[in-house]
Amino acid sequence: MSVEDEPADAPRDLGAIFRRLIRNTGPISLSHFMGESNARYYAAKDPLGSEGDFVTAPEISQMFGELIGLWLADLWVRAGREEYVHYVELGPGRGTLAKDALRAARRYGLGPQVHFVETSNALKDCQAEAVSGALWHDDLSTVPMDAPMLLVANEFLDALPVRQMVRTAEGWRERMVGLDGDDFTFVAGGQPMDSAVPSDWQEAPEGTIIETNPGAAAVMYEIAGRLGDQGGAALIVDYGYAETQAGSTLQAVRAHRKLSPFAAPGEADLTTHVDFATLANIARSRNLRVLGVTTQGDFLRSLGIGMRTENLAARAPQYKAELGAQRDRLIADDEMGQLFKVMGLAAPDWPGGAGFEAPE
Ligand code: SAH
Repeated sequence: MSVEDEPADAPRDLGAIFRRLIRNTGPISLSHFMGESNARYYAAKDPLGSEGDFVTAPEISQMFGELIGLWLADLWVRAGREEYVHYVELGPGRGTLAKDALRAARRYGLGPQVHFVETSNALKDCQAEAVSGALWHDDLSTVPMDAPMLLVANEFLDALPVRQMVRTAEGWRERMVGLDGDDFTFVAGGQPMDSAVPSDWQEAPEGTIIETNPGAAAVMYEIAGRLGDQGGAALIVDYGYAETQAGSTLQAVRAHRKLSPFAAPGEADLTTHVDFATLANIARSRNLRVLGVTTQGDFLRSLGIGMRTENLAARAPQYKAELGAQRDRLIADDEMGQLFKVMGLAAPDWPGGAGFEAPE
């Protein structure tokens, strides 16, 4: 049962809905808990910025979106400047990245049709104010396939619901959300899940957790197929790891602070780290070119964020210190520079992009 199926007199508090559901039908999957929580969370409000719950790279500095726009324009120019092309952004937030990227790209003659994949009505309104002429989609399936696609996703895949498996004394089980009194707690599911776990993990020690993100895998599969058919390129930016690893990375953030993922379902942002190794393997399995997975710090440095900061500061000297601080938040090792990764993808017949050292 999903929250949408609830009768009109049902409790509106998502925690109360989950409790009732668990009492009636038993523990629910973490994926169910996370999916419903984030759907409620993003539908309700604009969570971004210093007044909200978290700040993303495009909200820190215009330089982030501008450099992404230049990356796309450079590739597009070298691919032959096809006039009709689609800019597609997944989860565009306030539309700030798109606004900055499209402004930078226009200077090179790139003026694509803009498509936003977004489910939150609150954020669609922000996006419409930031970018004119955009078209909205609930998912990628309705984005036209009649021209090359330049796709960007920043902090999108981390919000999709994950499944977790835990190694118990009886073998692998799905990690479910149950109740201890009124408190949510993790419990192991009753169904054996050993066949869902890769063979080299079968004998992992008891308590080992592995996390999979079926939604991210499905999105990557579709992006890869489309880039192969339509031509184009993609940049996926998120916090995550370049090599597959064990352990839960689930976290909740509200008002810039971490809290228990169970503390306030629907009122905090639930995310996990993105497994870029798995995503790259999916892309390769569909013959896509993986240009590389690099850190956000290295990527922005090689795209010239240092020079861009100096140029902006030369034009507005009163903002010199602020611009330097913004740059550092984006690229410093102890800020976003190492934790955030950038994956570049290109259609087989498209050129490689700047910022990735050794394209395969
Ligand atoms: N990219 C933006 C916002 C990141 S927050 C930025 O960098 O500032 C995550 C974004 O993904 C929000 O716009 C949210 O509404 C959207 N989103 C989350 N889950 C989604 C889903 N299942 N389908 C479509 N959009 C989703």
